[in-house]
Parts: sequence; C-alpha cells; structure tokens
Amino acid sequence: MFMVPGAATQENARARRFVLPIRLRRSLNILGLSVCCGWLAGLGEVGAILLRKHLVDIDGFYRMSQDFVWLIPVTDLLIFLAIGVPLALLGFAWPARGGPLAGRILATLALLAVIWRAFPGIYAPAGLVLAIGAAIRLASWLERDSAAFRRWAWRGWILVSIVSVATATTFLHADRLRIRRVEERPLPPPGSPNVLLVVLDTVGADHLSLYGYHRPTSPALDQAARQGVRFDRARATSSWTLPSHGSMFTGRWPHELSSGWMTPLDTTHRTLAEYLGSRGYATAGFIANVFYCAADGGLARGFDEYRDYPRNARSALLMSSLVSRPIAGLRSMEDFVALSMNIAIFRPLLLAMDDGRRKSASEVNREFLEWAARRRTDRPFFAFLNLFDAHYPYKLPDRAIHRFGTEPVTARQADLIERWRSIEKPSLTVEETAFARDAYDDCLAAQDEQLGTLLDEIPRLGPTWVIITADHGESFGEHPGVFGHGSSLYRSQVHVPLVIIPPDRNLSGQVVPETVSLRDLPATIVDIIHLERESPFPGESLATFWKSKNGSRPRRPSPALSEVVLTELLQPDKSRMLRDRQVWAALADDNGTYIRRQDNGQELLFDARHDMQETGNLASDPTRRLLLDRLRTTLDSLTDGPLTLDRFRP
Ligand SMILES: [Zn+2]
Repeated sequence: MFMVPGAATQENARARRFVLPIRLRRSLNILGLSVCCGWLAGLGEVGAILLRKHLVDIDGFYRMSQDFVWLIPVTDLLIFLAIGVPLALLGFAWPARGGPLAGRILATLALLAVIWRAFPGIYAPAGLVLAIGAAIRLASWLERDSAAFRRWAWRGWILVSIVSVATATTFLHADRLRIRRVEERPLPPPGSPNVLLVVLDTVGADHLSLYGYHRPTSPALDQAARQGVRFDRARATSSWTLPSHGSMFTGRWPHELSSGWMTPLDTTHRTLAEYLGSRGYATAGFIANVFYCAADGGLARGFDEYRDYPRNARSALLMSSLVSRPIAGLRSMEDFVALSMNIAIFRPLLLAMDDGRRKSASEVNREFLEWAARRRTDRPFFAFLNLFDAHYPYKLPDRAIHRFGTEPVTARQADLIERWRSIEKPSLTVEETAFARDAYDDCLAAQDEQLGTLLDEIPRLGPTWVIITADHGESFGEHPGVFGHGSSLYRSQVHVPLVIIPPDRNLSGQVVPETVSLRDLPATIVDIIHLERESPFPGESLATFWKSKNGSRPRRPSPALSEVVLTELLQPDKSRMLRDRQVWAALADDNGTYIRRQDNGQELLFDARHDMQETGNLASDPTRRLLLDRLRTTLDSLTDGPLTLDRFRP
C-alpha cells in the first residue's frame, strides 16, 4: 500500500497534537490520584490510631510523637507523591495499561497503610494480600461507573479538605489560647530562682568517677559536685524509667502511680511541672528517651513546652506505617537473614533509621538553650532534661571518642553494641561482657562532656538551682543472669548519682553519706525555691542535710523504697513480656539492703557498709535478725502489705 508522503506527515503531526495532551492528562491524573491516595492513607492511619486508642488500647501508649495528627498525613502525602512520579511516567510511556496499573498500586498502598495501622498484630504479608485483593475489587468496581466515581471523589475531596482545614484551625486556635493562658499567669515573687532538673538516663552511680569508679567517666559532674552537695547513697524508686521518673515528678511510690511497662503514668497525682506552673514558673521538658519519657508516657503533664521525638526526616518517615512496618519486619528477620546480606543491606538501613529516632545529649542541650534564650526572662523556669546517651545500644554519638573501649571490629562486637538488648545474655563470654561494659563507660564519659558544656551555660540563664541525678543504673552480670535495668533491685540498678548545686554554687562540695530516696526530690525542689507552702508533694526536703550544718539535727528523709515488676523485657521473645511477672521490693538504709520477692517471700539481706557487690545474703544470719526485722516491718508498712501484681498495671 502506498501513501502520499505529505499526507502522512500531516496525519502524524495531527495525531501527535492530540495524543500528547491525552498522555499528559493521564499522567497528571495519576499524579492527582497519588495525592488523593496519600492524603486518604494519612487520614485513614490517623483515624485508625484514634479509634484504637479509644476502643482497644485505652490505657496504652501512642508510641509516637503527639504531632502524628498532621505528621502522618503529610508524610504519607510525600511518600505517595514520590511513588506517583514514576507511576505517572509509566502512564505516559504506556498509556493503555499504565493508568489502570498505577491506580491499583496506589489503592493497594493506601489500603495497606490503613490495614497495617488498624491491625498492628496482623502478619505484614497477610495485610499486603488483603490490600491487593481489596484494591483490585475496588478498582474494577470504580471503573464500571467511572463518571459517578469522579463525581463522588470530588465531593469527598472537598469534604475532606474542609474537615482538614477546620481541624487545623481549631488546633491552632486552641494552641494560641493555651499560650496566652500561660503568658497571663501571675509571676512568682521577684528573685525566684530557676530550677533545672537533669536526669541522666541509665547512669549507675557505681560507674562514675564521682563515686570512686576507677575510670574517669564523670569529670564534669565531679567538678560540678565541688560547688554543691553530693549524695553518696541516693536510690531510685525503681530500676526502670517510667516509675522512677514518676516518683521524681510526684513524690509518690511506684505502686501508688501504677505506671506500667505497657501503661502511661496515671493522672491521679499532681506533678512538679503542674505545681510549679501554677505558681508562675515557665515549664519545659527536653527529653531523649522517647520510649518512656515521651508525652504519651504521661510525664509531659504540666509542661508548657515538651520536646520529645527528634524532628528530622527519618523520624517523620517512620511515622507512616508504610515505612515502620517493613522496618519492623526487617528487624525481626535480622536473625534469619544470611549474615553477609544482613551487614551489606539491612543493617545500615536499620541503623540509619535507629539513629534518626535517637536524640543525642548535645541536641537536648541545644533545644533547651534555644528555648531558654527566647523565653521571657522575668519569669523563672522549671526545665527538665533527660539525657539518653548512656542507654543501650551503647553507641557513641557522632564525633565522640572512645576513651576506654574500641570501635567494633568483628560482626560479633558490632552485635554487642547494636543489639545488646536482644542478645542472649547467658551465652556471653567474660570478654564480650567487658566489651559492652567498656562501650557503656565510653557513652557515660561522652555524655558527661555534654553535661559539662551545659553546666557552663547555666550562669548566663540567671540564678538557677541545678539538680543532676539518674532514673536507674545498669547491670552487667554482676549477679548471674542480671543485665540491663528493670531486671532487679540490686545496687547496680537503683544506686544513682545525686548532686544539687545552688544558684551561687557556694555549698563547696558538701557530702551527704546517708541513704536517701529520689522520692524526696519534689519536696526538696519546692523547699529550696520557697514554694513548700501548699505543696502537694509528700516526703521530706533533702535540703535538711545542708541546712542542718547550722546546728539543727537533720530531719529523717523518706525511707529508700524501690519497687519493680520484673518482665521478660530483655528476652528476644516479646510475647513473654507480660508472663511470669514477679513483683520485687527493696528497702535500704545505712546499714542494710533488704530485697524481697513479693509472691513467695524470698528474701535477700546485704550489708550496706561492707558488701558493695551485694554477694553475701545475710537473711538467715541470726546476728542480723534485728536489722532484718526492722527493714521487713518498715517495708510492709510502706507498701501496706505485700505488693501483689494486681496493684500494678501491666
Ligand atoms: Zn531510664
């Protein structure tokens, strides 16, 4: 067949003029669909989270930034846009099949995000199969009546946009009202000092040179203590984060707070931030431990400003279930994937994601100092800092140096650092435990350096009381099988540093050798800033120890009670976490440490003066009978009978 050359050229040019816009329009449609799907996936995820919280997991944690309401839709939108661009190109290059295929892919992903979020227990691949099936059915159904679908899609889109804008406006307005209320609070008496509470997460006193440890792990803290008061026998009320912080904030024992491994701090008792805020203080928290100190843990109550999750792209990406579920899946597969593949592909990805969620001490410092610089200077502040650099994985922050240990060389050494929590502890050799302990000491020293940087800045902020302590310590097998924290009430986990520095730094290294409990911190803080009248906090002020230098006898501080509900938290099998739980309680004074398992009455008694390692159980020693009886009776009166599991929440 012959064609007139000129006619063919004209025909082709006309076809190109029409085909090109159609292709372009289809590509733009795919992009528009990706925006719609991203937005709907985000709103669906937020809806699923809120529904679960109100119907299923009422007392649980969100385990994410409280900004999830807008962060998840925005993140999903960006993820879908990133996927939509290549799909739009596919639609352009392959117009016949590209569009329908792109529609099915986008619908699958949107449904998948909501399914994974609504049913966190669902096996991830099963969620994917479900989403593919639903998306195919949905797409075929919509394609049968595409005109009606477009009509309803537009109406739905307008409705969703109106609801989104109205919600955002309401939130912004509520936030503005809150800020105005905070600004209008009456000021405390002129000259009221600031209060800075620094909690060094997972820092045991026995690992600090401040308390005689053989390595210089805390030179900055040593120097700070020379300007204030050092407490030599301070004990946390629990051996893990949430109940210990809860006691520091409320003056209550853990069994009164009922904050559990799976439940936030309850709202029964007023917190330091609430009380000081009501007395005119500006209150702000800057925390790095997002597992238990984030706003959803209940510790943010009363703070005008609370900065928990890091604000970076990786942290935002993890907000979407489309990212967090595959990452969780990879993590659970780590043990099964061949080592070389694991190291080459998965591990760098997982580590990068972990790093994105971890806030270093220098970042916490920066956040606090920036806030302090822009606040109203006529209003004193109560600021709470939680530094997390010593918590496992014992990985040094960027630019920090090894002082005692070394960079991991072998895969096993890398495991000891990065996967310390889940590693099988009974299989550890002495050298491996020492490697992890060296890494922990390195982290302590690096964090101490940051603490020094922070303390150098304090004089610029005006008269400030500085209180430095820790929520619990860390064990490295000093007792058989006991590692980490929250796993015992031995000294290694509850003996913590406590240093209190007055604004004029004139207490010149006083030392308090008596046993004290961090439960007394709220009573102490309101006492030193003269707000003890009307204080809701039980306990005694520890200031009695340095005030007594003027002649009067110090008043008795609270007994040093500690409690823990042991879980299998450190076991790789998480399903065991809420099984086999045991409640332990401990009471220490200057002479002895008494530890008792509450369900079967198993008792331990250690000489607090001569047996620092707590290796010799004296519970059946007749010569210690009086000491044992005294501690046992005091413990029973403090806990009002045995601490059974039903007095704690899961
Ligand atoms: Zn902690």
